[in-house]
Amino acid sequence: MTQLLLTSVRRYPDSNQQPLELLIDSGRVEGWYSPGKAPRANVDEVIDLEGRWIAPTFVDSHLHLLYTEQHSKQVDLACLSVDEIDEKLSAKQSDVALIGHGWRDPIPEKMLPNPRRFLDQRFPEIPVLLWNADFHRVLVNSKLLDLLNKDSGHPGVLVEEEAEEAWNLVKSDPSDEVAGACHRLLGFGISAATTFDRGESIKAFLKSTPGDHGVIVRHGLAEEEFLESLEGGDIPPVGGLEDDFAVRWVKIFVDGTLGSRTAWMKKDFSDDPGNRGVCRRSGESLFHTAREAALRGWGLALHAIGDAAVHEAIHAIRVAQSVRPSHIKMSDRIEHLQLLDPEDIPLLIESGAYASLQPCHLFEDRQIIRSRWGDRADFAIPFRQLMSEGVPVITGTDAPIESLDPWADIYAAVHRKNRDGSGVAEGPRQRVTFEEAFLSKTAWAAVANQLPSGYGTLKPGSRADFQVLEKEPQLVANHAESGLVQVFTFGAWRLVGKGSLSL
Ligand SMILES: [Zn+2]
Repeated sequence: MTQLLLTSVRRYPDSNQQPLELLIDSGRVEGWYSPGKAPRANVDEVIDLEGRWIAPTFVDSHLHLLYTEQHSKQVDLACLSVDEIDEKLSAKQSDVALIGHGWRDPIPEKMLPNPRRFLDQRFPEIPVLLWNADFHRVLVNSKLLDLLNKDSGHPGVLVEEEAEEAWNLVKSDPSDEVAGACHRLLGFGISAATTFDRGESIKAFLKSTPGDHGVIVRHGLAEEEFLESLEGGDIPPVGGLEDDFAVRWVKIFVDGTLGSRTAWMKKDFSDDPGNRGVCRRSGESLFHTAREAALRGWGLALHAIGDAAVHEAIHAIRVAQSVRPSHIKMSDRIEHLQLLDPEDIPLLIESGAYASLQPCHLFEDRQIIRSRWGDRADFAIPFRQLMSEGVPVITGTDAPIESLDPWADIYAAVHRKNRDGSGVAEGPRQRVTFEEAFLSKTAWAAVANQLPSGYGTLKPGSRADFQVLEKEPQLVANHAESGLVQVFTFGAWRLVGKGSLSL
């Protein structure tokens, strides 16, 4: 038993902003007290926080954690011209495979009509794979297409499942990335995250457990991998509420993305008549997975961006609930839920699903959302609407597609403007308060992500996983401004070399 007493603490969220004392016993909150009132008999250490703020550490409800680490090592092609891309790729020496990311539509004129040939001229010897900004399309060369058994007439552009297949052939081993990924999270004040990656990411976390690094990880299991394992027999979810690692949801892609115009829509894209996007899973094939998963205690996590995909996701969740054994308390979730048809709200409420939003996608999507969806965009990332209808909302950054910065995600939810605060609000009626956005990353997120009871509240008896900040949280617009001084998780201080609080 170790008792730690923090004095002169300001607590967030808390309506009473008087300094308090926080007593922590063996990594749990013992209690909050007025100045001088905490019992001191068994205290091992007292630290005066000199009026700094304490807030629960964040939960990121949707990201790609180990991939964020791998991604940080790839060539970043964002905002570059073809010549610059050319230069940057050529400068990168690799004898295994060349991997880049971040190019945006349209495919540069200079690479057309055949991106494959463009890449072949520069890199005839090694496989090349270049992700677009939303990671649903890749440009590849002949070396890689050969591995995929594509014929020589293929232009070298792959989408969705085929893009993933290509990636599987060139990616590195994620098990080396666990420690780095956990430290990256803590550096942003994040102590728990739900990641949606492939099976080798699950293996990596089973091998190197995140709790050793002071982090809780929740994982989704890809639908294909779930179905494959089913053939071999029963496959139960892994881990429970108190575990530092658990795999609890089957992740199903119902559609594609807004950026690639592959979101599955009820009506045509406003700027592309005749196009209603891509339906990746629907009807009986989707409901079959939903049933098999629910019967075995799994929750569903359905990727749905377009309004037709969201509609179908709600149906799948209702199917799952109709067969789930009553003793299993498992919640389902719709990932992204980027466009909601108001007509689907009653069914959505009935389904009890969590809406797992990424407000920070608005930083990029606000540039195209009106042209592609017209007035339907009033219901894009419908944070306020969902909340006022009683649909529970949680948020995440979708890193590495967006920055891992939780404050920026909150800022996007509150303002719906550009990163720097310029521009007009996109869908202003969907804005929420700072505190609501904050709760979607702390207390509310804890329940939806199957975290320990009371996580993210700092209430007596709950886990004392918190961050120490120089700045009042409500005034913070991004991580750099937060003045993050320290992070305390699993009963220990986590940031090294952070001034007077580093131990
Ligand atoms: Zn994602």
